[in-house]
Amino acid sequence: MLTFEHDYKTLPAPLWAACQPTPVDTPTLIAFNRALAGTLGATDIPDDETLAQWFGGTTLPPGADPVALGYAGHQFGNFVPQLGDGRALLLGEVMDTHGQRRDIQLKGSGRTPFSRGGDGRSPLGPVLREYLVSEFMAAIGVPTTRALAAVASGEQVRRQLLEPGAVFTRVASSHVRVGTFQFAAASGNEQTLKALADYVIKRHYPEAAEAKDPYLALLDAVVTRQAALIARWMSLGFIHGVMNTDNTSVAGETIDYGPCAFMEQFDPRKVFSSIDQGGRYAFENQPGIAQWNLARFAETLLPLMQAEGDELIAQATDAIRRFSDVFATEQRRLHADKLGLEAHSEQAHDLMDGLEIQMHQGEMDMTATFDALTQYAASPDNERYAALLALTTHPEELAAWLKAWQVVVMAGRESERLDAMRRANPIIIPRNHRVQEAITAAYDGNFAPFHTLLDVVTHPFDDSTEARRLAAPATSSEQVLRTFC
Ligand code: AMP
Ligand code: MG
Ligand code: MG
Repeated sequence: MLTFEHDYKTLPAPLWAACQPTPVDTPTLIAFNRALAGTLGATDIPDDETLAQWFGGTTLPPGADPVALGYAGHQFGNFVPQLGDGRALLLGEVMDTHGQRRDIQLKGSGRTPFSRGGDGRSPLGPVLREYLVSEFMAAIGVPTTRALAAVASGEQVRRQLLEPGAVFTRVASSHVRVGTFQFAAASGNEQTLKALADYVIKRHYPEAAEAKDPYLALLDAVVTRQAALIARWMSLGFIHGVMNTDNTSVAGETIDYGPCAFMEQFDPRKVFSSIDQGGRYAFENQPGIAQWNLARFAETLLPLMQAEGDELIAQATDAIRRFSDVFATEQRRLHADKLGLEAHSEQAHDLMDGLEIQMHQGEMDMTATFDALTQYAASPDNERYAALLALTTHPEELAAWLKAWQVVVMAGRESERLDAMRRANPIIIPRNHRVQEAITAAYDGNFAPFHTLLDVVTHPFDDSTEARRLAAPATSSEQVLRTFC
């Protein structure tokens, strides 16, 4: 069905280790992403039973040759020299219809040489969450890994309680993480490190090969992609939850959806993850954390870079500092789009600051606010004005902000700018309580809410009664304030 290649296996051990999936009891297909499979060049897609066998890890699809990948990582700031794929297996890569090499990986497929104390399995809940959120991100154009399949294992996994198990099939531009470079650097073998860096340049950043110092160019390119990525997250209220260096993709995709969530009421200090006790990965910390992770990446590249001594440190430091510039530029453009302003509007920054204050003190739902603002910009009538004011506990102050905003935005309303505004402000995000509702139903054997939610969040700009029902913010009794991985 897929034409597998095994380019990653040209890299030296210990960057990978051959390993077979552990068959599961009764694999049952929950979802298979036919549209994505098409872009991966899939032909002759078999029946659901065969798909469940393949993507549940019971029999391998033809041409697959699974390996677990080695990596290290800073987890909540502490360096762990050996993490690696403890419950994931790379089946191989395929060339997609754009000529891009994409990894196909099973997650939850059993123990590997990197499992340490873990069982190598995934509960169903996180599999469904990753499916929903990663496909939403793809639909809205945020760089992300993708969901190809979800298979129920028919087995139970023990977490706090016994839960149904599942296997997730993920597609990524690659699974090379900042932690992969840390792992190669910690091996003490510069040949391994150089092989990895050259591999990443060839696969993701071929233009860096032409630069005077390809490894400095690699650092620059990764910084740029990460800065753009985090700006997108911030524009949607996305909180990754576990921004460890092993969960930071060198290709610049959102990866490892664990206890992630979207903010509802705007609050810069927001944290959902039950394991993030200190709030290290709170919403407003994400750009700084990404930059910190990139500094760890830069450290691994120092031995490969050409400059020496102070010049070397200065170059690496400059590259890391540039994160802030790229982030600010991206954010200004995104803010302008969200507010319906000209791309280079001088007022975007101040107006967004003002709106964030309104959203925070007025306990406003971020997604609903921008959606209502978009509707009001499209047709500024009394009804839509009232709908906006109904979102805040401080209507008079919001009215004052709206007045200031209107002066700028109404100055030159053009359909092009309204289109950009619409695209920047989805009607729906995968809200926590809706994701939880889909998971709870699935635990009772009912996958209909999952499929309905998936359909709606993968069309985040389509207005319908169903979309509006699922898009509504949680009431106080519906709110899910803690997420688990
Ligand atoms: P994560 O928090 O999912 O990014 O995982 C951090 C590390 O723990 C990675 O090395 C994972 O492979 C490993 N890990 C997480 N869950 C399990 C599990 N159930 N069994 C084995 N390894 C795991
Ligand atoms: Mg991870
Ligand atoms: Mg050197």
